[in-house]
Amino acid sequence: MRVISRAHEIQAWTACLRRAGRSLGFVPTLGGLHEGHASLIRLARSECDKVVVSVYLNPTQFNSPSDLERYPARADEDLALCEREGVDFAYLGRREDLLVDRFQSWVEVERLTRPLCGAFRPGHFRGVTTVVAQLFHLVRPDRAYFGLKDFQQARVVSRMVRDLLWDAEVRLVPTVREPDGVALSSRNRLLSPAARNAAPALIRALSRARDRLARGDGDVAALEACLRGALAEEPLLKVEYAEVVDAETLDPFPDGKVTEADGGVLLAVAAWAEGVRLIDNVWVRPEDLRSSSRSSATLGS
Ligand code: AMP
Repeated sequence: MRVISRAHEIQAWTACLRRAGRSLGFVPTLGGLHEGHASLIRLARSECDKVVVSVYLNPTQFNSPSDLERYPARADEDLALCEREGVDFAYLGRREDLLVDRFQSWVEVERLTRPLCGAFRPGHFRGVTTVVAQLFHLVRPDRAYFGLKDFQQARVVSRMVRDLLWDAEVRLVPTVREPDGVALSSRNRLLSPAARNAAPALIRALSRARDRLARGDGDVAALEACLRGALAEEPLLKVEYAEVVDAETLDPFPDGKVTEADGGVLLAVAAWAEGVRLIDNVWVRPEDLRSSSRSSATLGS
């Protein structure tokens, strides 16, 4: 594995690989790597000749300096995971290369960034898309890998790639979970034992609402009440949002009824556990919706 810390070097290497006809898979990360990141890397390895992982704690996507400062990432551990997973190039991004002096050229996706996390984290997605755009220019991947754990981010990046006519495929990877269902996240390392005990309430709430939807209850208010009710069983959690939206547009369903939307239905929650922000979601795909509507006439009615 080659470890690279300068933007012009990774650019030169990837240009060289492209000239040699190698396909490039790219996994952008903030560091604090875990099995979730490893699953993205494995898929990239299975689909591409060479895999580039970037590790860059992008300051422009954090909303508070304290969240950035305590972000649990260690370069030595991250590099060890990359090495174990057979990564070809680990690019350790540097602030001075990416957030250049007098930087002012932001890349912003509009509508998709407004709801859900966007409503509570002003500027967050603008920071994500700007840095992902920079990294895409450095790496110019054939395929880039994003986790469904950050569903809105994956949708926003896919939109940017389509809108800006990038010749890259965005590949979406299922969420990797702990045995008790908690989605793996770098921030989980910051949870106190009590907060960690409370964390499974997110997937419990999502599963309950998903089951309700599968039984044919397409009433958005009832589904969101179901999410909130399940989250409220864990008093330590402070709910930020609990929503049921069109998974393609992230817009609310018209008339408050789930319809057979092209992109399916997204059930999404965000909650604070003693100062640590947790997010999770369940994506009910159109084919799953159709099978539940066949078994019940009420869905979408
Ligand atoms: P991050 O380092 O948090 O920016 O994550 C880098 C990439 O890994 C993003 O595309 C995330 O969605 C993805 N990722 C993070 N956690 C998980 C997980 N538990 N399962 C699958 N992908 C994940």
